[in-house]
Amino acid sequence: MEVRNYINGSFVDSFSKQNIEVTNPANQNTVGFIDEALDKEIDLAFNAATDAFKKRTLQNMNPELKSKIMRSIASKLRKYKISGSKILSEENGKTIEQCEGEFEGAASVFDYYAGMTDKIENKLIPSGKDTFNYTVLEPFGVSLQIVPWNYPISLFARSVAVSLVIGNTIVIKPPELCPISSNIFGKIFNEVEMPKGILNIVHGYGETTGKRLVEHEAVNQVVFTGSPEVASEILKKTADRIIPCHLELGGKSAAIIYSDADIDQAVESTIKGIFKPNAGQICVAMSRVIIHPKVKDEYITKLINKTKALKIGSGDDKEVDVTPLISKEQLKRVTNYCNSGIQSGANLIIGGQKHEKGNGNFFEPTIFDNVNPKSTIAQEEIFGPVTSIFDFETEDEAIDLANSTEYGLASGVFTSDDHKAKRTAEKIAAGIVWQNDWFVDGVNLPGGGYKKSGYGRDGGFDSLYSYGQTKRVSKRLN
Ligand code: NAD
Repeated sequence: MEVRNYINGSFVDSFSKQNIEVTNPANQNTVGFIDEALDKEIDLAFNAATDAFKKRTLQNMNPELKSKIMRSIASKLRKYKISGSKILSEENGKTIEQCEGEFEGAASVFDYYAGMTDKIENKLIPSGKDTFNYTVLEPFGVSLQIVPWNYPISLFARSVAVSLVIGNTIVIKPPELCPISSNIFGKIFNEVEMPKGILNIVHGYGETTGKRLVEHEAVNQVVFTGSPEVASEILKKTADRIIPCHLELGGKSAAIIYSDADIDQAVESTIKGIFKPNAGQICVAMSRVIIHPKVKDEYITKLINKTKALKIGSGDDKEVDVTPLISKEQLKRVTNYCNSGIQSGANLIIGGQKHEKGNGNFFEPTIFDNVNPKSTIAQEEIFGPVTSIFDFETEDEAIDLANSTEYGLASGVFTSDDHKAKRTAEKIAAGIVWQNDWFVDGVNLPGGGYKKSGYGRDGGFDSLYSYGQTKRVSKRLN
């Protein structure tokens, strides 16, 4: 796989000669070295994206041709799924199966948005006999996109695909911890003969390359997926220039389990909501469980049994359920959170510590009960295989607990009563509410945050309005 930056249709030799070592979180082996983009590469990438935008390359492209190119991107993603997933699994730690799912998902996103290139119909707004008004959805220009390490391929795809439809040109920075697999997009864009300059991939650390990208004068929009802390920095940096920002941030998502819920379903959802996907390093992880005491014992007993059966290990082992945390730093962070949970008086019922296995960043699936809703583990995003259990008596109490953090990304409600589920969904402050299952998803379904989880939507038609702006043209007829 290429390890150079992809600028103006080519992988270019590094000017700075600096690179970043990428390691496998399961054993610390070196996966490769990615070139670091500094001032020269950054300028070149923005020049290329600006030129492509000024030439209206995407806006003037025949929609049928654009659709065809996007479908080719989708089929190439499927073609390279196996080789790409091997690298992604090595650099990110996830199971090969999850990585292949990520490539498949990315391909579906391109297929879905390929179908939209000729379907965005603008509005003609009635206004009497003397005037004529219509709207058009237009791009922002050069879209800077910054991607986190947990789902680098699917998050890359979701913002690039919709940008192509709208007509934004792109400078994108993959995450420094697992950047190599993202270069597959440069290779694919060349193979499908996408015109030069539309996509530019630059690599580097957030603190250096990321900051410089955000400060660059050519930026017309920032699409950021990552932590609220960095989002806040980006907002401050772009405030003077009034740059529109699209922010997909963290979460502390709660599942409310009512006494009439199917407990087996709730237990399955917890396993796949917090432990199995990427060791809980997922923005929509089920990191809180709010359960009625009547069903709590049954739920906990079943959950512990299932949790004990989970196999912890490297992503290349087909039998493995819980993969390593991305870095030593993340391992320390999750360990510290668990220690703070114990100190706050929460009852640690399983896990809570590093799982010793070679030199990997493994952490045991962890469940805390009797958690103080105001404590750090109840409020902050841990980003690991750790969930906290809370009790409630009334429906309002459950909803208040679900809404008691600064986040509002996803949530869940488990009940056999549709009316209760509907009432609950209406009152939960989150961009997604799942009922009786965690992860009911699809490329045509929008997602995004409330509160500190960000704003803007990805997925479905809603995404178009996060990546484009409406222009009104109003004429007085002669
Ligand atoms: P992060 O905020 O540390 O980094 C995200 C990206 O920003 C990386 O590419 C990094 O290099 C870059 N960056 C860091 N500092 C920067 C700066 N000062 N200026 C510009 N760029 C900078 O987040 P992370 O640890 O990579 O990812 C985890 C976070 O992402 C979690 O909070 C998770 O919930 C969130 N996330 C959200 C979604 C969503 O759709 N809402 C999806 C995935 C992850």
